Amino acid sequence: MTDRITFKVNGTDGAARTGVISTPRGDIRTPAFMPVGTAATVKAMMPESVRETGADILLGNTYHLMLRPSAERIDRLGGLHRFMNWDRPILTDSGGFQVMSLAGLRKMSEHGVTFKSHIDGSKHELTPERSMEIQRLLGSDIVMCFDECPALPADRARIAESMRLSMRWASRSRDAFGDRPGHALFGIQQGGLEQDLRQESAQALTDIGFDGYAVGGLAVGEGQEAMFACLDYAPDMLPKDKPRYLMGVGKPDDIVGAVKRGIDMMDCVLPSRSGRTGQVFTRTGVVNIKNARHQDDPRPLDEHCRCPACRNYSRAYLHHVFRAQEMISGMLLTWHNLTYFQDIMDGMRNAIATGTFDVWETEFHTTRAQGDIEPL
Ligand SMILES: [Zn+2]
Repeated sequence: MTDRITFKVNGTDGAARTGVISTPRGDIRTPAFMPVGTAATVKAMMPESVRETGADILLGNTYHLMLRPSAERIDRLGGLHRFMNWDRPILTDSGGFQVMSLAGLRKMSEHGVTFKSHIDGSKHELTPERSMEIQRLLGSDIVMCFDECPALPADRARIAESMRLSMRWASRSRDAFGDRPGHALFGIQQGGLEQDLRQESAQALTDIGFDGYAVGGLAVGEGQEAMFACLDYAPDMLPKDKPRYLMGVGKPDDIVGAVKRGIDMMDCVLPSRSGRTGQVFTRTGVVNIKNARHQDDPRPLDEHCRCPACRNYSRAYLHHVFRAQEMISGMLLTWHNLTYFQDIMDGMRNAIATGTFDVWETEFHTTRAQGDIEPL
């Protein structure tokens, strides 16, 4: 245990790295996948079950929690860890990304963003200072800077202007965060797909100084090829001795490609959201459980998987409960998807530590290619 948040790289293989982020609430093994607990719950999962899948850290959403039940209320009730019964590390986003996506409902200025709640239309403001305050009230272990992220494609002038605003907000976030031992503040690199703007952003953030750095502004519609092209240079611009976090990524092959390019942390709603819509990720590809071909199938989803959905139930049963809209369907499929994502991370951590990432990656792709990826 430690009273500070530290990061240690224990092994590298090419650009890929494995290590540990130590926090007062426990270690985070990297590369790490963070399940998303939007409204103080990873939907359909008990926190102890999330832990059983292998997750060391969860992500919480500032935007959703500030509107309902409010950061002040969570603070009065002992903070987010106690409120949702998760005593391990929590990373919170800044609210920026979600507020920006409220197209017609927000107004932006140098100071920050005013917006109307999607729940009841009430008026709110988010600024770098308010975002830091909310994340402090929540008790977040890893706090993200308040930033702006334009959707891609966007023209270069717009991306440059937005990135420079985000850098001014990063500086204000740093000042407002202050000195909080045991808690970390991450800066967020912007600059779209423009290499020189990414460099300018990385330099600005490094000059301010953060405990970790996110590669922001990706997975916003640019496609995997463009994202990987950017990840070929963007992580390398950030300090080597700090964790690098790719926000909002992604599908299993996105995650593998990102780790290969030097990313240490990721988050995505995909495994939990897909679990509720019957889309299942397995070693051999994507299974759509609502497909009629599963209705008489006594086999598990994935015979090599350690999760309860695979150990105790047939595809026929999972198909049945999905069709019957039984709650256990979302529970089992989410449990499976989260387990599969964590197993990918575990496989990569071991492969990087033993210098066999290439072999592991080839097998990952070959196994998937042998399976039948079903249409959605
Ligand atoms: Zn499973």
